[in-house]
Amino acid sequence: SQIHTIRDLYKDGVIQRQETAQFPHNAKLLDTILLYQGDITKIEADAIVNAANESLLGGGGVDGAIHRAAGRRLFEECKTLHGCDTGDAKITKGYNLPSKYVIHAVGPVYSSHSAEKKAKLLGSCYRTSLELAVEHDAKHVAFPSISTGVYGYPIVDATHVALKTVRSFFDSPNGEKVDNVLFVVFSDKDRETYEKLIPLYFPPE
Ligand code: ADP
Repeated sequence: SQIHTIRDLYKDGVIQRQETAQFPHNAKLLDTILLYQGDITKIEADAIVNAANESLLGGGGVDGAIHRAAGRRLFEECKTLHGCDTGDAKITKGYNLPSKYVIHAVGPVYSSHSAEKKAKLLGSCYRTSLELAVEHDAKHVAFPSISTGVYGYPIVDATHVALKTVRSFFDSPNGEKVDNVLFVVFSDKDRETYEKLIPLYFPPE
């Protein structure tokens, strides 16, 4: 598996223009937004985002994988943070990871909130993570699909929120301070969902 720009995905016919695009074309974003299927702990970015829980003390899924790969010192730093609210994020060093920072974002548990509230909380994870990246001058940021594992957020709904929030960030003044956002998907179904929905938020023309 390889990292692809959206531009590559259009060129190779993996994704296609859609009539129902909800945002205007922005050529620069075709090289800014990247898609990769695989393990986020292997990614060399300035910051990788963790789908953490409120304790910030580790868990299963991507959280467990990040703590295993980063080593004990990540856990020790996380203990000093005293947890994190749902919808918010906190940043640590990356320790043994190839990335300099880990941004620990706490997504909503799907069954715990109203429809409107959970979408707001999930969007807030992506937006807050990107604002933290800007504060720390992290220009390449990788996201897993937050809340769509153990937390039960349906992948299609969650991907709409992720893509819309990232697109809106790039339409905001701080957008020019981040060079790349890499969406890291684990399963074929998740990759296909991103491929289907990306053209709605990042149209080719
Ligand atoms: P949450 O508790 O927020 O739902 P999970 O870790 O259970 O978080 O799942 C979030 C997503 O991360 C799921 O799509 C899962 O398949 C994926 N995932 C699990 N391990 C990894 C990994 N090493 N790299 C990238 N994504 C991963």
